[in-house]
Amino acid sequence: MRKRVLFLLLLLVGCHEVWAWGFYAHQRINQQAVYTLPAEMIGFYKQHLPYITEQAVAPDKRRYAVPEEGARHFIDLDVYGDSAAQKLPRFWETAVKQFSLDTLQRHGIVPWHIGLVQYQLTKAFKHHDLQRILRLSAELGHYVADACVPLHTTRNYNGQFTNQRGIHGLWESRLPELWAPEYDFFIGPAQYLQNPSKTAWEIVARAHAALDSVFSVEKQLTQTFSEDKKYSLEERGATTVKVYSREFSQAYHLGLHGQVERQMRLAVHLVASYWYTAWVDAGQPDIRNLTPLTPEQKQQLELEKTQYQTGEHDARES
Ligand SMILES: [Zn+2]
Repeated sequence: MRKRVLFLLLLLVGCHEVWAWGFYAHQRINQQAVYTLPAEMIGFYKQHLPYITEQAVAPDKRRYAVPEEGARHFIDLDVYGDSAAQKLPRFWETAVKQFSLDTLQRHGIVPWHIGLVQYQLTKAFKHHDLQRILRLSAELGHYVADACVPLHTTRNYNGQFTNQRGIHGLWESRLPELWAPEYDFFIGPAQYLQNPSKTAWEIVARAHAALDSVFSVEKQLTQTFSEDKKYSLEERGATTVKVYSREFSQAYHLGLHGQVERQMRLAVHLVASYWYTAWVDAGQPDIRNLTPLTPEQKQQLELEKTQYQTGEHDARES
């Protein structure tokens, strides 16, 4: 019974603490990204495909255990006024000075966090650190994908202020679960990003610009669907859950003219492009036959880290 109530809450209430792209979409995005990598990288990533895929959801899983994790998945751009994505400070330290750490954490930090993880991944490539390359690749994939979700860029993230509660799960879980098998994931090769931090801001700006239709299409449809047609009950294992009906979900899918598919394709392309950029910026190391670092090598890296702990990125790593 307890489990059942929980599921209902997850599906209908939704909150920053609960949702990201559904697990399915996150895993699919990381998986597809691997196939767009250049020859020098694809072998390595394919070899570790199960890990890269499974760990795509690790950041969401640890949100309950790590208090500061939640803020890394979203940014409520609208609390900062018009054109926030263009106006907010790009440098973390400047942003902290201007708004305070508390405020930033409360309203989300995803674009800054993408910059940080990108920096860490570049370093991991430089150090030929197999385990960190894998972990950071999988997690960077998660944060980049989250930044592509329009509802991750607004304080009205679950329609709670516009009587559209549940819209978060509808957009990023229900729709991909139903239609992603039909999505076209034929995407061109990964591209080098001249300025990965700046790209992160462009991603959230674009996602934010898509919000208008996310809300308006749902609103229009709700006027034409009765409550019992809008929702249905589905069996999930031993529980029955209330979900958006297939008919309503399909109408929303059509009304959005492929928006979820577009954003998911964009996510795949960007995730691969971030990995590729980190590898290029690290000097294109040979990763074809990487083995885990020995304890001695790890110790050496730790030593170097404490010796050279300067700069904004290192400061946030602790
Ligand atoms: Zn997330």
